[in-house]
Amino acid sequence: MIIVLKQNAPAQQVQAFCKELTNMGFEINDSVGQNTHILGLIGDTKALSESWVLANPVVDTCRRVSEPYKKANRKFHPDDTVVEVGGKVKIGGGNFAIMAGPCSVESEEQITLVAQRVKAAGASLLRGGAFKPRTSPYSFQGLRAEGLELLDHARSVTGQPIVTELMNNEHIPLFLDKKVDMIQIGARNMQNFELLKAVGRTNVPVLLKRGLSSTLEELVMSAEYIMAEGNPNVVLCERGIRTFETSMRNTLDISAVPMLKKMTHLPVVIDPSHAAGIAFMVPSLAKAAVAVGADGLMIEVHNDPARAKSDGAQSLTPDQFDDLMKVLRPELEFFGMKLN
Ligand code: PEP
Ligand code: MN
Repeated sequence: MIIVLKQNAPAQQVQAFCKELTNMGFEINDSVGQNTHILGLIGDTKALSESWVLANPVVDTCRRVSEPYKKANRKFHPDDTVVEVGGKVKIGGGNFAIMAGPCSVESEEQITLVAQRVKAAGASLLRGGAFKPRTSPYSFQGLRAEGLELLDHARSVTGQPIVTELMNNEHIPLFLDKKVDMIQIGARNMQNFELLKAVGRTNVPVLLKRGLSSTLEELVMSAEYIMAEGNPNVVLCERGIRTFETSMRNTLDISAVPMLKKMTHLPVVIDPSHAAGIAFMVPSLAKAAVAVGADGLMIEVHNDPARAKSDGAQSLTPDQFDDLMKVLRPELEFFGMKLN
């Protein structure tokens, strides 16, 4: 249930009302917006009578929330959430962030060079996989702990915050030790609930990618797992889904953006690289992402795509990324988005 409080409700009375509700066993999600103060109740509210709630003088209106996601629900929090990464990059609420870099961290020279190029072009964050989820156990699995060291090094050169994928609860201390600025939960782990709970117990921003065949409600429920543990800093990522179409790697579900924004208050970014799987499509899909109202982009960039250890076919060269940024800047300005 959501309870909308009166604009001028006295703080003491609100406090007393909240105490009453917590004594009844409800968890309260307190959301103070510019013109609204909403109490979102989490727990079994079936027995709670609306007339009892409405009788309290601090209450303006109340409404039952039928969706299974609560903390992520836009009804609980009407304003857009702005997630801050690395103390400087904002995502959401009119702030647009571009995460760019190679699929995998391969060497110090490679990651540092790409980091410098994407930073110069205007990317907000450096991406790069150290622990890689590969379909084949014989494919390159990533440089693992060494990859994190190299990302840390690249960050010290460019000052850009880093985002990298976590696949295993046991690696969380390593990620915290290396001060990873944003933890990526990949498509294949979107419903690894123990992993979601574990990142929910940190306060590191999380980039949660949509599963290959997951519905939007399943994606939002996974965000709810993270938020239920106390970490509100979740950014959702549409990265293409499985359809009957075989001419590209996946199908970018562009409709996910307006629908997710209706369902939740969390920022939504698009990854056109994994959606398309082919580099020539990436700029068109990136432009579409801005037009449809996304809050950011994740784009794979490699200094030598033909020799990349993973996802070379979908990676832009640094020059192609420069060209794309030249088109995205005026487009973002046209839509009133601030590039961080
Ligand atoms: C990636 O970002 O490199 C990646 C593996 O993405 P996804 O989980 O979306 O496949
Ligand atoms: Mn990749």
